[in-house]
Amino acid sequence: MGRAARVFVISGPSGVGKGTLVSRVRDRRPDLGLAVSATTRPPREGEVPDVSYYFMTEERFMALVAEGAFVEWDGHFENRYGTLWSEVNSYLDEGRSVILEIDVKGALNVRKAIPNSVLLFVAPPSLEALEQRLRGRGTESEEKIALRLSRVAWEMDHASLYDATIVNDDLDVAVDQLEKLIERYETDGGTDQDGSH
Ligand code: ADP
Ligand code: 5GP
Repeated sequence: MGRAARVFVISGPSGVGKGTLVSRVRDRRPDLGLAVSATTRPPREGEVPDVSYYFMTEERFMALVAEGAFVEWDGHFENRYGTLWSEVNSYLDEGRSVILEIDVKGALNVRKAIPNSVLLFVAPPSLEALEQRLRGRGTESEEKIALRLSRVAWEMDHASLYDATIVNDDLDVAVDQLEKLIERYETDGGTDQDGSH
């Protein structure tokens, strides 16, 4: 059976290691695309425009919404974030799978818009480990850290709606798991044999 390009949505609590995992898996599989999201939030230190995100004004974002340019979009932490159809389709048209790194609500909306997308959840080994990573990254204020942590229980409650969960404890093990899951869904549609994915 050949490989089919798929849309992979990766979610999990802020600070769990999604960005790290995705970057490591793409080192091994450079053909995997990464859909750059649009956002109205300002760039963080070290973020590169058009690579980390398409940073844009509220006006530009809402104009794209009106054009139907988004697979899904949402507001978090007083800013808007969205996945562009143009990003997703540019990879699929080349026969390449594409990864979307977005939150739980966004992921469930992607599944509605793209029914055969594959939803992968990244969970922390513990709440304490998550908190340490979020603080260790040093990119958010204490207030923002508290806000992000307050969402974790809700996010974890939705893991069962995903096609698979990866616990990001040992990074190398988690990267292996992610790579194998992607390959499995590309080659045989994953474990489901009923054609629903
Ligand atoms: P996310 O994209 O989910 O918000 P990041 O990829 O930015 O998370 O990771 C948050 C922090 O945790 C980073 O400093 C990263 O280096 C670290 N990290 C990622 N995976 C692990 C791991 N398995 N063990 C320890 N630290 C990790
Ligand atoms: P951050 O500001 O830390 O980069 O992201 C904040 C939140 O926005 C995270 O939960 C992240 O997953 C989510 N996010 C990033 N891109 C998108 C997107 O395209 N759509 C949605 N719905 N959420 C996104």
